[in-house]
Amino acid sequence: MRWSKSLICTLREDPKDAEIVSHKLMMRAGLLVKLEGGLYSYSPLGVRVLHKVERIVREEMDRAGACEVLFTALQPISLWEESGRAGIMGKSMFRLKDRNESTMVLGPTHEEVATDYMRTLVSSYRQLPATIYQIQTKFRDEIRPRFGLMRCKEFVMKDAYSFDLTSEDADVSYQKMYDAYLRIFRRCGLDAHPVEADTGAIGGNHSHEFMVLAPSGEDGILHCPQCHYAANQERAERQAPPCDWSKPSAEPRAKVATPGAHTVDEAAAALGIPSDQVVKSLVYVADGKPVMVLVRGNADLCEPKLRRLLGASELEMADPETTAKVAGPFGSIGPIGVSIPVYADHALQEARDVAVGAGEDGFHVVHCNLMEDADVKIAAWGDLASVVAGDRCPRCGAPLQLERGIEVGHVFKLGLKYTKSMKFTVLDSNGQSVTPVMGCYGIGVSRTVQAIAEQNNDKDGIVWPASVSPFQVALLSLDPANEAVSSAVDALENALEASGTDVLVDDRAERPGIKFKDADLVGCTLRVTVGARSLEKGGVEIRVRKTGETFLVPVSEAPAKIRELLAGL
Ligand code: ATP
Ligand code: MG
Repeated sequence: MRWSKSLICTLREDPKDAEIVSHKLMMRAGLLVKLEGGLYSYSPLGVRVLHKVERIVREEMDRAGACEVLFTALQPISLWEESGRAGIMGKSMFRLKDRNESTMVLGPTHEEVATDYMRTLVSSYRQLPATIYQIQTKFRDEIRPRFGLMRCKEFVMKDAYSFDLTSEDADVSYQKMYDAYLRIFRRCGLDAHPVEADTGAIGGNHSHEFMVLAPSGEDGILHCPQCHYAANQERAERQAPPCDWSKPSAEPRAKVATPGAHTVDEAAAALGIPSDQVVKSLVYVADGKPVMVLVRGNADLCEPKLRRLLGASELEMADPETTAKVAGPFGSIGPIGVSIPVYADHALQEARDVAVGAGEDGFHVVHCNLMEDADVKIAAWGDLASVVAGDRCPRCGAPLQLERGIEVGHVFKLGLKYTKSMKFTVLDSNGQSVTPVMGCYGIGVSRTVQAIAEQNNDKDGIVWPASVSPFQVALLSLDPANEAVSSAVDALENALEASGTDVLVDDRAERPGIKFKDADLVGCTLRVTVGARSLEKGGVEIRVRKTGETFLVPVSEAPAKIRELLAGL
């Protein structure tokens, strides 16, 4: 491809709305063009990276025995009503009406369509196991689209669905996809780690996310350096830190004035006790109903854990008016005598002498025992607090480390969730009807493209791994008007393309300095420079973008040297 004919436009400055390095670089290198927040077009350079990632995904899915299909993006809402997810998806699902006033959705994911596809085609155990996949555009009305391709309203996903007769067979299918994911990310030049994950609105009981570690990542990941336990913060199990107030108090419960104390720390200071001995009481509204949640004073509530415990689809913190109505004034609420259900973190089971808000402005109750006091009714105990760095590993007890990660893939064991609700059955070898066991597996293909740029860059621009570089070679013609230079460039381009190496020829009438800067910014794996001066010196200069290593070779030997370098990268 010739730069002069491709409309690739690089930018000098970072776009104002770009916060993270990969977003800045993808925009500056002219890979993406913004339509509006959460909607991006791919330039000829961007689409090439996308296609190269898609190709790796396809090859590894095919190798793992999955069959490619293509579903429609437009889906009837009736499928979602059948699976029971129409309500759960809430506002994140784009809905529209066709001309007959039937409600349709733009697919945010395809479990329902995949199950419907299978029940249309499959009726015998002989047709299973089967794994199908597609690479397709998905639509999600994200609350905060941001970070370029990382969180879009429209994005490219590879989604796969496995169907097996037994849960043991389903475990085998799951493992095949898990292994394929490791190969895919490795081939993309990405260092991605599987971690235990929450299943969210997709459902099921077991899942792993594949995380690319990066300070800009939106997910917290807890990792044990000793036994290598790794889990998303939304999922990580918390081992309660021990405390000195694990015995019931000898003193009776008492109401104490704590004027002006509205936070845990202020209450602890007023009472002269450690802040972890004060219970943090919060009011949430879960699917329209208020509930109270209790965690230890030093802990933070982990909302996904609460959502899981309650089985709620919509969960938000109650506003001050609702809170005041059901539990007293903000800053002084507590569980004594309230009429709404109270859920408590299991770390409070060991805390038998704690202080709680009295439900009255400016008062707390000390020497409270949540396990025994008759007027404190705990509807359920659960693991509700966020795990933080330094907490004990749930497997081996060593202190955990907290890192940040970008979720590029997610694999789920779904069990019978969709096959049962959508009545997909097959006849087994005895003629008995059985419900197949399902798994689903997603890769954010477009997010992966940007995650590669997030992990592979330097001060000058992107450093694409050879497998996904928009072009393997950027061929810079420093003197396009010079006959000898342009014929050497043409010869090199032809020779490379003939051997399957893709080349971007920078033939623009620009100064060499600009061409060098742009080549570094775009970040093709090799830069090859041809100019009147290099020809005088005996040939062309080949430079490895990643290491800066350079080689001066005669024009005739350049194709072989380029192929040799690419094979080793
Ligand atoms: P997240 O937690 O980041 O919102 P998710 O868990 O909702 O993602 P899944 O339903 O697991 O996403 O989708 C599979 C993959 O699709 C994710 O692992 C991620 O890589 C990608 N993905 C999800 N939402 C988006 C989005 N809005 N923009 C780009 N990629 C996305
Ligand atoms: Mg996910």
